[in-house]
Amino acid sequence: QLTERGHGHYIGGEWTDGNGAERGPASDRTEPDDGRTFESENPATGEPLATFQRGMAADVDAALEAAESAAEEWRSLSYIDRAEYLWEIYHELRDRHEELGEIVSKECGKELSEGKADVTEAWHMVEWAAGNARHPHGDVVPSEIGSKDAYMRRKPRGVVGCITPWNFPVAIPFWHMAIALVEGNTVVWKPAEQTPWCGQIIAEMFEDAGIPDGVFNMVQGFGDAGAAITDDERVDTVLFTGSAEVGHEIGNKVGGEPGKLAACEMGGKNGIVITEEADLDIAVHAAIMSSFKTTGQRCVSSERLIVHENVYDEFKERFVDIAEDISVGDPLAEDTFMGPAIEADHVEKIRRHNDLAREEGATVLVDRFELEESEIPDGHEGGAATAADGERSASYANGHWVGPFVYEIEYESDLRCLNEECFGPHVALIEYSGDIEDAVEIHNDTPYGLAGAIISEDYRQLNYFRDRAEIGLAYANLPCIGAEVQLPFGGVKKSGNGYPSAREAIEAVTERTAWTMNNSREIE
Ligand code: NAD
Repeated sequence: QLTERGHGHYIGGEWTDGNGAERGPASDRTEPDDGRTFESENPATGEPLATFQRGMAADVDAALEAAESAAEEWRSLSYIDRAEYLWEIYHELRDRHEELGEIVSKECGKELSEGKADVTEAWHMVEWAAGNARHPHGDVVPSEIGSKDAYMRRKPRGVVGCITPWNFPVAIPFWHMAIALVEGNTVVWKPAEQTPWCGQIIAEMFEDAGIPDGVFNMVQGFGDAGAAITDDERVDTVLFTGSAEVGHEIGNKVGGEPGKLAACEMGGKNGIVITEEADLDIAVHAAIMSSFKTTGQRCVSSERLIVHENVYDEFKERFVDIAEDISVGDPLAEDTFMGPAIEADHVEKIRRHNDLAREEGATVLVDRFELEESEIPDGHEGGAATAADGERSASYANGHWVGPFVYEIEYESDLRCLNEECFGPHVALIEYSGDIEDAVEIHNDTPYGLAGAIISEDYRQLNYFRDRAEIGLAYANLPCIGAEVQLPFGGVKKSGNGYPSAREAIEAVTERTAWTMNNSREIE
């Protein structure tokens, strides 16, 4: 349950309603109906979970002031002292694994094992960042002149603004914040508006860890609060994960300001290449997991399956059979494979993508977009909602249910359905002939470049894909999902600029000083 502490912002070590107002216990409160609050919703039921304060520019301003004031003292601590606070949070994440995993499932509709995996990934990141405090943090280099010492030292950049999406509401914030804090920056974070409850709990963890006031600040709210962070000159680095649309806007704005830096992770139109030499058991499993886990709402989810003509028919039959039967249901139920979509607007976006594929000539193989009423999870009856145009909507009054949509289409370079991210359980089968070069050419033919996989028993094909696929994350004989914090996580082309996450984020949150010191009385 939500605690008495919050539903507000955490700024300078205090919980506030905004504009500096102190927050009393939840039981004493009546929420103002002035557009300054918003609700977190359970996507499986459509019911509100809790009410939160909506952050405005004034709240961001207060958070940035707190972050600036705390910066000098925080950067003066040793790496190891800063990491101590992160270790506290590491233990909290482990101790509250079950509870927090369930909240993730309730708030963003992921099935429970995925909800818990989100928390696990968060503590992996915290463990890596805190452990990193005991690693060397610079380079000693040989100087051209014998009497000089030369080395590179890292310094914090100052105030880091973190803006995160809803689909990994615990892991991604830590991918950004853990390393930023250990490196000596202070942080202002805005969680996604769909997952404020997760934001609330993370802020409580920082408070419980005793992090000094102002070092970590959290402002709840929407894109306007995010923009107030990115636009402020007190922010030295912006770390962003979310849609390409918003990421490019931020990148362009921040990139144009001298001294400021933005590292953005964005979406993908990810593909899996299945060659003639593939083990089809692996191929089918990898394709199902990549297309439908998290209801297709992962940045690395696959929306294109590029299959060799000699195995196409067998692959298609097996893939379609499973997609027809996938259990869509209550995220908290044990046998659920796919939960609901995040919100009603997103259901409509998925509908538009499915329609677009049809308009562009797709042959639909599985259409479970509008689930049968009997498929709606037990305990969530209530009937289908009716869309404004009188058609039955797949976003039911009691939850945002969508099922798999699978189609086959002849490859053409400029088809929008093969180029635009749907971010749902929507996947194209594309048949190719020829060699690995032909498959990779199709694979690379999108503006995005986040993730992709190859399924093949031929190591030469695997190596070709590794070297020529235009992506940041490449998987071989694995589903196109998963991340390891000790590896870089990021994309190329339209999917990313700079790495805001995991190992490489260290570059975005530090400045380098090249230090050259003369050890002699002569100047050479
Ligand atoms: P989104 O871009 O709509 O929102 C992300 C965050 O940005 C939210 O906190 C939002 O409030 C904020 N925001 C919105 N407008 C803003 C603005 N103008 N200025 C500053 N902040 C603003 O994305 P989403 O719907 O939450 O997430 C889904 C998208 O994220 C998908 O495209 C997915 O592929 C991508 N994603 C990418 C990765 C990755 O690592 N590459 C990981 C997860 C999700």
